[in-house]
Amino acid sequence: MGDKNIALKVKREAPKNDNELNFIPVYMPDISGNEKAYVVDCLDTNWISSIGIYTEKFEKSCADFIGTPHAIGVSNGTVALHLALHCLDIGPNDEVIVPTFTYIASVNAIAQTGATPVFVDCRLEDWLLDPKDVEAKITPRTKAIMPVHLYGIICDMEAIKEIADKHNLAIVEDCAEAMGSSLNGQHAGTFGDIGTFSFFGNKTITTGEGGLVIAADGVLAARMRKVKGQGQSLDKRYWHDELGFNYRLTNICAAIGVAQIERIDAILDRKRAIARLYRELLQDTDVAFQAQRDGLVSSDWLISLLLPAHVNRDAVMQGMRDKGVDSRPVFYCAHQMPMYKLDTSFPVSEDIARRGISLPSYPALTDGDVKRVVSVLKEQM
Ligand SMILES: *Cc1c(COP(=O)(O)O)cnc(C)c1O
Repeated sequence: MGDKNIALKVKREAPKNDNELNFIPVYMPDISGNEKAYVVDCLDTNWISSIGIYTEKFEKSCADFIGTPHAIGVSNGTVALHLALHCLDIGPNDEVIVPTFTYIASVNAIAQTGATPVFVDCRLEDWLLDPKDVEAKITPRTKAIMPVHLYGIICDMEAIKEIADKHNLAIVEDCAEAMGSSLNGQHAGTFGDIGTFSFFGNKTITTGEGGLVIAADGVLAARMRKVKGQGQSLDKRYWHDELGFNYRLTNICAAIGVAQIERIDAILDRKRAIARLYRELLQDTDVAFQAQRDGLVSSDWLISLLLPAHVNRDAVMQGMRDKGVDSRPVFYCAHQMPMYKLDTSFPVSEDIARRGISLPSYPALTDGDVKRVVSVLKEQM
């Protein structure tokens, strides 16, 4: 591990006091490679907006890594989802099926098109949208399904594709947490019509703020490229023949991304080793991890687990924080938020949302840090 450890070393600020000295956060990005040099290059060459060599380079590197013909950089993972839905002509009077247990951006992007998010429950074993419930929620207005590959685990794409084909629905995969995840060698985002990614500071690789859309279909990809740039014709400047948005990624952000993707294999290797160590150290407890099927390689974005039902999750998290170890609750269900409130119950999602926590999962964690997190967690249970 020697070389990788050096490659992934993160500079931390000097602690202000003893409590801070040993504090383990849930996440911090590793920006110890060429990030600074490439950003300085943007400044030195004056290419600080969205035109420049790094935006092109980053798109090309992402396309090669993911194994897709078309990758288009955008300003964040939320607009990536909105752009995808918009370019599939989804809007008012349409319905899009989405798990209620997801980060709110998945649902907001649907609502932003004017379409109605239709919630489905998840499966207890992998916390991901349940194909049986998807089938049950299809109506004549359903236009698309949005599987969300939470924490790096890929949804049951065979079953979802079968349902989509049968009912002629589009698939937009929210891969914000699945950069580096694959199933039988096929990368997340390449199963459906469009895949979207996020490069927020706590994602597997980061551009600060940034995102990506991918598509195999060249016509759809060209439309997304056009619409993200104010709908400007791709070959006639200042000619706009359809509604567009400014969803461009800057060259500076892309410069950070180029440096990140240069080291993505080392980042993923370290995160996977951390995940294996957590599983091993916690195997004698009653916590439950998301199931991983054969053929799945996870990005192991955030190591998340369910505490046993009798344990008070929020008290455990507070107890850990008092000992200098941060954690975070898994997402709350979207159908419990005021703007999406439903009286329907989604028992599995609600159970996961109540019991789940995510543990520190950043690449610069040492094995010693992981052991400390686990012993602090065990003390609280
Ligand atoms: C991070 C995330 C997003 C949104 O990405 P941003 O870049 O923060 O806009 C969307 N969906 C999921 C599941 C995410 O984790």
